Amino acid sequence: MPEVERHKYDVVVIGAGGAGLRAVIEAREHGLSVAVVCKSLFGKAHTVMAEGGCAAAMGNANDKDSWQTHFKDTMRGGKFLNNWRMAELHAQEAPDRVWELETYGALFDRTADGRISQRNFGGHTYPRLAHVGDRTGLEIIRTMQQKIVSLQQEDFAQTGDYEARIKIFAECTITELLKDGDKIAGAFGYWRESGRFILFETPAVVIATGGIGKSYKVTSNSWEYTGDGHALALRAGASLINMEFLQFHPTGMVWPPSVKGILVTEGVRGDGGVLKNSDGKRFMFDYIPPVFKGQYAETIEEADQWLKDNDSARRTPDLLPRDEVARAINEEVKAGRGTPHGGVYLDIASRLPADQIVKRLPSMHHQFKELADVDITKEPMEVGPTCHYVMGGIEVDPDTQAATVPGLFAAGECAGGLHGSNRLGGNSLSDLLVFGRRAGLGASEYVQQLAARPEISDTDIAAAAKSAVTPFDPPAEGGPGENPYTLHMDLQQTMNDLVGIIRKEHELKQAIEHLSELRDRYDHVTVEGHRQFNPGWHLALDMRNMLLISECVAKAALLRTESRGGHTRDDHPGMDPVWRNKLLVCTIDPDEVGFSVPAVTVTPEAQVPMREDLLRLFDLAELEKYYTPADLAALRDDAG
Ligand code: FAD
Repeated sequence: MPEVERHKYDVVVIGAGGAGLRAVIEAREHGLSVAVVCKSLFGKAHTVMAEGGCAAAMGNANDKDSWQTHFKDTMRGGKFLNNWRMAELHAQEAPDRVWELETYGALFDRTADGRISQRNFGGHTYPRLAHVGDRTGLEIIRTMQQKIVSLQQEDFAQTGDYEARIKIFAECTITELLKDGDKIAGAFGYWRESGRFILFETPAVVIATGGIGKSYKVTSNSWEYTGDGHALALRAGASLINMEFLQFHPTGMVWPPSVKGILVTEGVRGDGGVLKNSDGKRFMFDYIPPVFKGQYAETIEEADQWLKDNDSARRTPDLLPRDEVARAINEEVKAGRGTPHGGVYLDIASRLPADQIVKRLPSMHHQFKELADVDITKEPMEVGPTCHYVMGGIEVDPDTQAATVPGLFAAGECAGGLHGSNRLGGNSLSDLLVFGRRAGLGASEYVQQLAARPEISDTDIAAAAKSAVTPFDPPAEGGPGENPYTLHMDLQQTMNDLVGIIRKEHELKQAIEHLSELRDRYDHVTVEGHRQFNPGWHLALDMRNMLLISECVAKAALLRTESRGGHTRDDHPGMDPVWRNKLLVCTIDPDEVGFSVPAVTVTPEAQVPMREDLLRLFDLAELEKYYTPADLAALRDDAG
């Protein structure tokens, strides 16, 4: 048996971003002991990078807003592929979750009369994003950490031990979930610094590991986002949905090359910034797609009037949902109307006084000054699409966030369903608050009703340890072995070139072939040195996850022969209503699980039809854009 440090908890939460921390709070409030494990430093997660804000229909900036409007915007943004029950819960509960953060100590920006201020964002009918300048995620994480400390102080007062009920395991990476029969029994991983192994015995695991962007060359995501949670769930026997839908945020930095992909918040456009091509034209008026015709301003005058008073005009097409704006930028650059560095211009300098820009967008001002030597109060920014967010994720029950494996739960970016084919900006921070809480609750209720605790076998622990050290074994047939960094670069290039923002059948087939070759090469991945802080080894283990998840994306993208949200097929340009209620479900054969990366199977599954009272929130004329004639006839019959 390898040497393994052991711990026992009621619930183990993997990931200390917003979803993970909200789940920890909930499980602890239900009296359970919780471990929170994170790969990076505690507090360093995508959530902390979130800039623009958190969407919640509080109605502070426009009292016409309601959960129903937020629900409808979310469904439209996701092109009706969303899990409607998740979209309903999300819209209904987001305002309470934001208020609750203030009871934990958060302080959002205020309106003149002292209410939480809300800003405009793409696809949202009303100003809806609660924010703290352009550093909203930082405040959310700070507040939840503070809440956790206050709970630990309560635990100390009761037990004399701060860590009696919540303990943080930072810089600790989980590599495998362990089961007893069909049930979750624990999680296995290693300390990044020492390389020593660690085992958590637990009946319930909440996966909250965020995204997968590091499989792409140009991304706003940071080094941790290697799809670990998605892959852990697959290997444990759970399924993933919607993996073909990736969000390419329209505005990433394009210059200098060292910072290509870093995000430029949509808050810039929310606060009045406009997109222009190299002719100085505001081109978004040329790209309003048929499904959104009539909902967006058709002239510059109307768009600018909307910015002053959003009741007297239609909203600017600069704030169309992200998939539409990203495609428009792509088209402009392709047509030769791009900037010198292959993007388009984003101009806030001519729209707001300099002091307002610095006040409202302090991080953007700093980011461009420091990284690109551009003063955004005087010059436009150069921006272009960057891989930002994965709509696809672990298939969960909408109410409890339970995955298909007993004892496994998922929340936040790694869970699938809420956003359908495209996420609206601001809907991720609210997603992780609403469903982080629900996952913590679901896990607590599951643990409390268990008759007996599952057990972990020594064989499974030994197998997990063996897989983890396999990269230290040179290939049996000799030779140098595969370098994890080279494999990573090859993967990123493949995904960027062949499974990017615009997809084609022959390129997707080529990508799947490349991925299969990369999987074979991965069997020979070899690293030097030993387990003590060894980034090459860490990457080698991350590659196992990235290769598996990339195959899910490519295979699902090949099967979906239509264009919808974050999936654009050049050879199938339109949205096909027949695909509207079809989910593509990714699984692997559990018998194939070992160090090698197994092949992925993708199967279509029908969505549960939307509940009638929710359906009735939409005009039939709008549904005609998304539903088949047969679906519509059935709806008309039901309506009598
Ligand atoms: P994360 O916050 O990504 O946290 C994941 C956690 O999992 C981390 O602690 C990580 O260390 C840990 N982890 C991963 N793998 C492992 C493993 N194997 N073992 C142990 N731990 C692991 N959304 C909005 O709604 N509004 C915005 O304004 C906004 N702005 C954004 C700006 C940027 C630059 C980016 C990148 C994203 C932005 N988003 C925004 C999206 C949003 O921030 C993320 O989708 C969201 O924060 C994800 O939260 P999460 O809790 O699911 O995961």
